Amino acid sequence: MVLDDLGSSLRGSLDKLRGKSRISEEDVDEIVKEIQRSLISADVDISLVQELSDSIEERALEEEPPAGTPARDFVLRIVYEELVDLIGDSTELPLEEQTILLAGLQGSGKTTSAAKMAWWFSTKGLRPAVVQTDTFRPGAYDQAKEMAERAEVDFYGNPDNDDPVEIARNGLEETSEADVHIVDTAGRHALEDDLIDEIEQIEGVVEPDTSLLVLDAAIGQGAKDQAQQFDESIGIDGVVITKLDGTAKGGGALTAVDQTDSSIAFLGTGEEVQDVERFEPDGFISRLLGMGDLSQLAERVERAMEQTEIEEEDWDPEDMLQGQFTLNDMQKQMEAMNNMGPLDQVMDMIPGFGSGIKDQLPDDAMDVTQDRMRRFQVIMDSMTEAEKEYPKAIGQSQIERIARGSGTSEEDVRQLLEQYKMMEKTIKQFQGMGSEQEMQRMMK
Ligand code: GDP
Repeated sequence: MVLDDLGSSLRGSLDKLRGKSRISEEDVDEIVKEIQRSLISADVDISLVQELSDSIEERALEEEPPAGTPARDFVLRIVYEELVDLIGDSTELPLEEQTILLAGLQGSGKTTSAAKMAWWFSTKGLRPAVVQTDTFRPGAYDQAKEMAERAEVDFYGNPDNDDPVEIARNGLEETSEADVHIVDTAGRHALEDDLIDEIEQIEGVVEPDTSLLVLDAAIGQGAKDQAQQFDESIGIDGVVITKLDGTAKGGGALTAVDQTDSSIAFLGTGEEVQDVERFEPDGFISRLLGMGDLSQLAERVERAMEQTEIEEEDWDPEDMLQGQFTLNDMQKQMEAMNNMGPLDQVMDMIPGFGSGIKDQLPDDAMDVTQDRMRRFQVIMDSMTEAEKEYPKAIGQSQIERIARGSGTSEEDVRQLLEQYKMMEKTIKQFQGMGSEQEMQRMMK
């Protein structure tokens, strides 16, 4: 998660303010130092750090907290507002016909982001097309085509043509039925003049409504020059930050946003086409500060439910309240959980969870849980339908067979059955809780 360090260290120093109603100069000083330290270690440009910390310091010392506001909430509010101010609104991308040009260095995640963004627009009811003009990187065509297929969007590229400008022109014509065009361009390891020439020519042909700079979240100080050069040649309207699943930094991307006076459009959080989030500054910063992001969480839950493809007549969570809770029910629940994405990302979105509880868990706790869920899935795949419906009838000989069939150990199978028993007990408790309405409320 971007600037993860800022989130946890800031929470630490803010927690020291708990219970206080007045803030001393020392308190402010300590918090501002903490903010500076984490921003610098996250690779945010030094002058930007200074600017941000100065305004936080000034406001915390000069503004009068509204009556009854605890010191912690007051400072948190100021930090939040200043960060919102720095990061600004999300890049404007109306849900209508448009052309988007992607720029960035090789490996930054352009091709992946093109497919992800196309997928995102398709979930909004639009018809996107990806046009691949990267003739420089071997394999770019195949990769883009395959990802566009996975995203189920239109695609144009031509591996036999080595003129990217012509490909761009043909691509827009060939995909004229689409309403959102996302044009991927070639990158180089470094910014070279021919790359700049090429992208300027493509820009001239494509006439994009929006040009986005794609940046790897791990990029450090180099972001500034890159952002400046692309901005001078084609004009950058927004930034896509990729690989947020793999880094605690991301400061370079913030520097780029500041440098180009632009904003963040999308965040990439994994290698799959669905691993993309439209940037929402409020939610993003709330998450950063450990305040949770309920809107993203709600969206993920909704998407997970769709992906799990729970047919109403097939499986209704409320059935569990009426009668038997079976292993099939448990499997569906786990699938829905899995579809929500990595557990630690989901936990960051739950208010109060991101900060307190998660920090206290051992680092590998999340992996263990996900590994375990995966193992349970494999085990359940080796069970017969009758076993899943009546798990109580599973005896030693079945346990041996299931372990063998699923390539797991008997201990693993027993663990699953234990887990099932625990869940069944919880459900029974719900069932004993009185009115049906009450139960449904609890289940939700
Ligand atoms: P391009 O050269 O700019 O087109 O970059 P690619 O789209 O080919 O991405 C380079 C590598 O980064 C590929 O291996 C991608 O799978 C990977 N990648 C891109 N975006 C993400 C992301 O958000 N998370 C992770 N983990 N990997 C990503």
